[in-house]
Amino acid sequence: MPKNIPLKTYRAKRDFKKTVEPVGKVQKKRPQKKATIFVIQRHEATRTHFDLRLEITGVLKSWAVPKGPSLDPAIKRLAVETEDHPMEYATFEGVIPEGNYGAGPVMVWDFGTFENIKTQSLKKCYEQGHIEFFLHGKKLNGAFALIRTHLSQTKPAWLLVKMKDEYASIKKNPVKNQTKSAKTGRTMKQISKEG
Ligand code: MN
Repeated sequence: MPKNIPLKTYRAKRDFKKTVEPVGKVQKKRPQKKATIFVIQRHEATRTHFDLRLEITGVLKSWAVPKGPSLDPAIKRLAVETEDHPMEYATFEGVIPEGNYGAGPVMVWDFGTFENIKTQSLKKCYEQGHIEFFLHGKKLNGAFALIRTHLSQTKPAWLLVKMKDEYASIKKNPVKNQTKSAKTGRTMKQISKEG
């Protein structure tokens, strides 16, 4: 991802007169140290996928996870890094109108806070391509790792994997069984209809 201008790629891809997504402010350093936030959005675009976003350095670092997260530590899920999103995107739920980038309904599937469980800063971990984080979500809890496997200018590939802890499970399948919005309780169908 180009690093010099924050949110440049995000904004370049969108026409804010046409889409309903937030323009977003470029955040300065947070005034107080608050817990860092995450969101996972279910996005029915050309293909359905889950967008995992973690607050790192004042933006939402973003990964498109085609199959969504698994709670089974033996399962590695491809997570393709996408452009940084503004912090305001964390609460975005609605329908991106046809003809726009990413057109289709977006659900706030899960949200909450997370902790960096490595000793290095999140920024450093991100740059080095190995992030370990503990989620406190409405659906997901526990430790996950994101590990970069392929460095590319446009689409770096990472793997998302559940780390072994009390929240790991080979049986539970939240992607399949918990299908409503963590924000509004709506189904994907309702979001598509209501916007
Ligand atoms: Mn998406």
